[in-house]
Amino acid sequence: MRLRKVKNARERLAQNNNTYYIEDAKIYKGKWQSLFKNENPLYIEIGCGKGQFIMELAKRNPNINYVALEKFDSVLLRALEKAILDDIPNLKLAVIDAESITEYFDKGEVSKIYLNFSDPWPKKCHAKRRLTFKTFLDQYRIILKEDGNIEQKTDNRHFFEFSLESFNDNGWKLHDICLDLHNETEKYPDNITTEFEDKWSKLGPIYRLVAEKK
Ligand code: SAM
Repeated sequence: MRLRKVKNARERLAQNNNTYYIEDAKIYKGKWQSLFKNENPLYIEIGCGKGQFIMELAKRNPNINYVALEKFDSVLLRALEKAILDDIPNLKLAVIDAESITEYFDKGEVSKIYLNFSDPWPKKCHAKRRLTFKTFLDQYRIILKEDGNIEQKTDNRHFFEFSLESFNDNGWKLHDICLDLHNETEKYPDNITTEFEDKWSKLGPIYRLVAEKK
């Protein structure tokens, strides 16, 4: 999501520190449950964009704790502006780059990771930036619980194929592979769309997979 840089985005986020936005997220490594004041499972979305998906998901599942991660503060500010109009006690937002995710979440602390419409980085020379590249999968493996999993959706066939291969080559077990999510509504009646999904599903199929640690 290439949003225009918002002036003073970090300061504006900080003004809302500890409502939804968590400025010093590293200090919660291994302690996210204490922040939510319960022992519910922790689910995270990497690259939440403006947050439509995770806000709706959190509202539907009050017994799960959610953290929405976003690399860019200007983008997260948009999500925060939406969240503060609502009351979602089981949701937190943080500026976190997936590259350093193990600095924020402890071994086995996370039950599920959502990767929704991650940037496909189509050029081969940029493959290492794809959020399903081996180096990212190795970090996800550390923070996920033994029975934890990753749910990925994308509109980009090439990126989807790359991800299938990457999960497979790196010892993940794939299931629930779907090649046209919006035409399988009986199978996925609870699908919650993201901003990108609303836009791109009009133009072609949406791909989905679930990958489990083996
Ligand atoms: N998930 C949203 C959706 O489906 O509408 C946004 C999709 S957008 C194409 C990808 C998002 O991932 C952008 O907001 C981008 O800033 C974020 N992102 C890209 N690389 C990231 C990284 N390394 N760590 C965290 N977020 C990242």
